[in-house]
Amino acid sequence: MRHDTTVTRRLLLVVADGVRPDVLTEEMDAGRAPALAALRQRGSAHAISSSFPSVTGPAYVPFLMGQHPARVGLPGLRWFDRSNTLRWAPGQSRSYAGIDIWHVDSDVSPDVPTLLEYAQPSVAAMSMIGRGATHGRIGRGVGWMLRAAPAHFRGDLLGWRNVEQQATAAFLDRFRQVKPRASVLAILSADKFAHKYGAHSSPVRDAIADVDAAVRRAQEIAARDGWLDTLHIWITGDHGHAPVHEHDDLHGWLEQEGVRVRAHPNLRVKNPDVVLMVGGNAMAHLYMAPGERQRRWWGSHARRWDGLLDRLLARPAIDLIAVNSCERTVQVRHQARGVAEVRRVDGPKGARWSYVCLDGDPLALGGTLRDLDACTAWDVTAATAYPDSLVQLSWLGASSRSGDVVLSAAEGWDLRARFEPVSHVSTHGALLRDQMMVPLIVDTPIARAPQRTSDIVPSALDLLAISADTHFNGRSFLR
Ligand SMILES: [Zn+2]
Repeated sequence: MRHDTTVTRRLLLVVADGVRPDVLTEEMDAGRAPALAALRQRGSAHAISSSFPSVTGPAYVPFLMGQHPARVGLPGLRWFDRSNTLRWAPGQSRSYAGIDIWHVDSDVSPDVPTLLEYAQPSVAAMSMIGRGATHGRIGRGVGWMLRAAPAHFRGDLLGWRNVEQQATAAFLDRFRQVKPRASVLAILSADKFAHKYGAHSSPVRDAIADVDAAVRRAQEIAARDGWLDTLHIWITGDHGHAPVHEHDDLHGWLEQEGVRVRAHPNLRVKNPDVVLMVGGNAMAHLYMAPGERQRRWWGSHARRWDGLLDRLLARPAIDLIAVNSCERTVQVRHQARGVAEVRRVDGPKGARWSYVCLDGDPLALGGTLRDLDACTAWDVTAATAYPDSLVQLSWLGASSRSGDVVLSAAEGWDLRARFEPVSHVSTHGALLRDQMMVPLIVDTPIARAPQRTSDIVPSALDLLAISADTHFNGRSFLR
């Protein structure tokens, strides 16, 4: 697609955190999100896949950096620093659910620019990743933290929404002053309401109305100052949501198995056998031999740990177990459907994937599949229970910061019964469809169907006529 480069285009990317594509469609169809419906009318709306783990923090990487999060050093909401190179990390561990949120920007690889670095001037508001924003990080300073904290810790969601509305207003003020080439506004209320009341509840729909109002006001600002025709607004999300009825105490179960476990908040456990990092909470990393600073892949762990994995797989809370056999191979196990391998070959024209059924078809793909490029690997998995499973498991398993074993919870379950302060009826983090699929609305014609949230960055750069030499995991849908 060719752009008229004589006009400076601008992109506002709005992140509707935790909003399911079906709920967003319902709100647009019912006339309750008219500004979003008008964007859809001008362009198109899609359900695309997020990254695994499907959780806030890591899942912001694809649409701000064009990569799988584990490829730039963010394998989960919680992860263990096996190499022990982080400077401020109690128990060699990260949890972006807490104060570690301050570290996100420096934990991601400095070698991969963000959209906010490519397209300047830029502004970020409430975004988990905001590195490179030339005109500030609204909603992330100490002042905003202090304003949001009382509501956050009381579980006062209306109070939270109120603070978020103030932050949105501050963003729009900055937006008016700066006329940013790229800006990202994240609205998180919908996710918080979904956890408490369910993803289809009316408070979630009220939060979608906040997204709609922000879009309308951004357009009014641009119209008043005469730059509306240069403004594009795209909407996406970071993860879906699905009902959770049962909360497994994975931590307690491992201890009953006689395993010495380090996990949040018990980070002072010395010489653990296993480090457990649940994040999402419907996924977990398990790190074996955590005292070793180098990862040694599964072959040398199998004798000690395969029995435990068999018992783990028999638990109703566990759907998939992914065992990282080497940098290019992940073995996937399902209790009833058996075992297969996801293999990756890295070539000059990009990676290619194979799915090799060893003893069953755990990902329910219908049998062995060979030599798929990234687009085809998405196509063959898109309509299954595990969208984009091959690419997601493969990139996650390859990261030196990932666990030796990755768990994805069964439908209706999550994996952190103990120490979870906020009671919740809906969850995310797993590789399951309802948790992986997110909305995308683009207000411009597209050349091919968008697949992953990592497609957004290369597409945005095409829209803005900015050339990049980064090798993105995603691919532009504008050409
Ligand atoms: Zn959430």
